[in-house]
Amino acid sequence: MIRINKPEQAPENLIIDGKKRCISHCIAYSDNLKNPKKTKKKINFDSKIYGHSDVKETLIQSQNAKCCYCECKIYENGDIEHFRPKQAYRQFPGQPRQWPGYYWLAYEWDNLYLACKTCNQKHKNDLFPLYNPEDRAKNHQADLNKEKPILIDSGKENPSDFIKFQGEFAIGIDEEGRGKATIELLQLNRKALKESRKNKLIKLQKEQKNCKRLQDLLNVLNDTNQNLEITELIAELIEEIDQITIRINQSISPEEKFSEAIKCAFDTNFEFILGY
Ligand SMILES: [Zn+2]
Repeated sequence: MIRINKPEQAPENLIIDGKKRCISHCIAYSDNLKNPKKTKKKINFDSKIYGHSDVKETLIQSQNAKCCYCECKIYENGDIEHFRPKQAYRQFPGQPRQWPGYYWLAYEWDNLYLACKTCNQKHKNDLFPLYNPEDRAKNHQADLNKEKPILIDSGKENPSDFIKFQGEFAIGIDEEGRGKATIELLQLNRKALKESRKNKLIKLQKEQKNCKRLQDLLNVLNDTNQNLEITELIAELIEEIDQITIRINQSISPEEKFSEAIKCAFDTNFEFILGY
């Protein structure tokens, strides 16, 4: 996970159409309350509003075309993720769903991210645990500020304050345990992710070792008597070292898949990656 900086201004369709639909959902909720038998009635959300191409495109840009949780690359096929689930919520995995969810936040810009299908549908789904479930905002009139969520909100917090990587493994680092809980709840150490991260890190470690080897060779050549052949060889080596350096620098840019794990690997000089 990395910090996500969305534009403050929501896409226009959320402001116009989303506000109207939100009002209709709030009215539907109040009507349901009058009839206790209907309190679990599902609300019909309009995916054309929160899934509008402008919303998706803005999220793709803001998230460097990566899943907000696992940092896999996604594009138009990503799911719109409601951080606070719109239809129903669960406090923890395996617990029953509670209705309604945060229906009034279905089109709220702050609540929307883009996630891969595995993170969104299999792991996060309608999970939204709170430190104190008694503080949960259960309708549109409740105070959201009372809630203390366990999951890290990468649009408001910096995930690197909570989660670091040792090689391909994500580990929680904050005393409160929110990083650890987020890793477990979203299964950020699932097998496929770890394999994929490891492959990428090993490839980069090879590049870095190769770069050092070429640099050593360059130093030796620089100390020898120069002739035309050696001068040409030096120029070739410098070019190759430059190309590798560009690739390494690119690999830790936020656009790159798993950039946080890669950054941690370079910070620790690949201490946690076993040899290849
Ligand atoms: Zn994901």
